[in-house]
Amino acid sequence: MGARVDGDRMIIDTAGFIHWPHDRIRGAMVSASQVAEIERHAPEVYLLLEQLDVEIAMPSEESLQRIAVIAAETGDLGGLSPVDLEVLALGLDYNREIATDDHRVQNVAEANNMAWRSVSGSGIRTKWRWKLRCLGCRREWQDSELEDGEICSDCGSRVRLVRS
Ligand SMILES: [Zn+2]
Repeated sequence: MGARVDGDRMIIDTAGFIHWPHDRIRGAMVSASQVAEIERHAPEVYLLLEQLDVEIAMPSEESLQRIAVIAAETGDLGGLSPVDLEVLALGLDYNREIATDDHRVQNVAEANNMAWRSVSGSGIRTKWRWKLRCLGCRREWQDSELEDGEICSDCGSRVRLVRS
């Protein structure tokens, strides 16, 4: 059982390193900033990264910017970590499938017609847009105005990201 050929390297987010057996991880690709996450959350797999032929790659600046634009359009940008953005940009750079349970990552991948699969469960089937909505007065806020968990200046209630 050899490593997958290079063209088959799947990009696996950190949840995959926590939940998947070693054989499913073998030959995967990860973003450079993901390595620290793997070390923190899946330390025993971290020690095996080289042995499992995991390739560590840096996404291009161009793809990072494109992903940020798409994520802003879908309303997911505020909830994505720098690592999430790198994972998505790698998928774009290498045209490879992304394994992730993060619904925002899935949503942005969908919006950009990129291949993804869930690490566990079925994942999303349709595209979601996210809206910041005040839990009190129901006013909808723009990402640029407030962040999830902040206070609505109209009524003093908390605003939350909700699926629209
Ligand atoms: Zn309000």
